[in-house]
Amino acid sequence: MTQPLPPYVLGRVAGVEPVTPLMRRITLEADDLRAAVPIAPDQQVKIFLARDGGVPEIPGAPDDGSGVAGWFARYLAVPEEIRPWMRSYTVRALDTATGRMVIDFVLHEDDQHAGPASRWAARAALGDVVGVLGPAVATYRTPSGEPVRLLVGDETALPAIGATVEQLPAGTRAVVVAEVTGPGEEQQWSSAAEVSVHWVHRTGDGDALPAAVRAAELPEGAVFAWVAGEAAAVRAVRRHLVSERGLDKRGVSFTGYWRRDLTQDDAPTEQDMADAVEQMEDTTTAG
Ligand SMILES: Cc1cc2nc3c(=O)[nH]c(=O)nc-3n(C[C@H](O)[C@H](O)[C@H](O)COP(=O)(O)OP(=O)(O)OC[C@H]3O[C@@H](n4cnc5c(N)ncnc54)[C@H](O)[C@@H]3O)c2cc1C
Repeated sequence: MTQPLPPYVLGRVAGVEPVTPLMRRITLEADDLRAAVPIAPDQQVKIFLARDGGVPEIPGAPDDGSGVAGWFARYLAVPEEIRPWMRSYTVRALDTATGRMVIDFVLHEDDQHAGPASRWAARAALGDVVGVLGPAVATYRTPSGEPVRLLVGDETALPAIGATVEQLPAGTRAVVVAEVTGPGEEQQWSSAAEVSVHWVHRTGDGDALPAAVRAAELPEGAVFAWVAGEAAAVRAVRRHLVSERGLDKRGVSFTGYWRRDLTQDDAPTEQDMADAVEQMEDTTTAG
């Protein structure tokens, strides 16, 4: 099925504030964002950054009906030295009345190994301009009934987890297992739902999050799991939930948000492709 290209908007930085030392909240403003449609708590946008620090320009949608796929081929055809960087981020909050979109950027601990987006976010100042494509496809599949939400992720998933628990209605339950570098990176959310949060501190071997989920007591009854963060950790958590805890595959939504030692410009690995096929199958067979 061809997906139409979502609108491309130039957003001006209208606010910058720390959430925690390694998470920077940036508010983007644009008249065109008044027309953006909130879809789900984990909805994403693509952020574009010009390599020369100016206004990022991207090709328009092809008029041959090829939608996002056709547009992506055009984007890749732009010579690399002038092609704006494209990175995925979660819409932490959207105010269509004011045309303001809030995005929480994780700053990498080591600026030397940061990528263009985290480096940009660390230095962003009022009036800077980035391109915003979307909001687009949401991965959050609203489960039927009211199962307990099990929300698992690292700091890149906190914007989606925060938005999810804030939107859960009274009478529902959520269990959060979240990995951050240390106590100073833990966040607090308010929610009408009953939410228990288990913070896990990074150990360096990449296994802290999977180990915490393996050790966790899962809630009784129907569980809908949402897992996002570093791709290998996400894979390990999903495998455990399905193979060892017996969760229905269709009740586990999982997305690798970043890959160790690979940038978002790097091609998908075989494992990434296999994950994408599984995600598609799970989504199309979900009831
Ligand atoms: C649907 C979706 C939603 C996302 N939402 C958010 C969000 O709301 N906030 C957010 O901060 N991120 C979010 N991410 C993750 C973000 O897109 C990646 O972390 C991205 O790689 C950052 O781009 P960059 O230019 O800084 O680094 P890149 O150029 O992509 O990578 C440079 C280097 O940094 C490493 N790296 C990338 N991310 C991290 C990290 N988090 N910690 C340590 N090392 C890292 C890479 O392995 C690579 O070696 C989301 C990703 C997806 C797919």
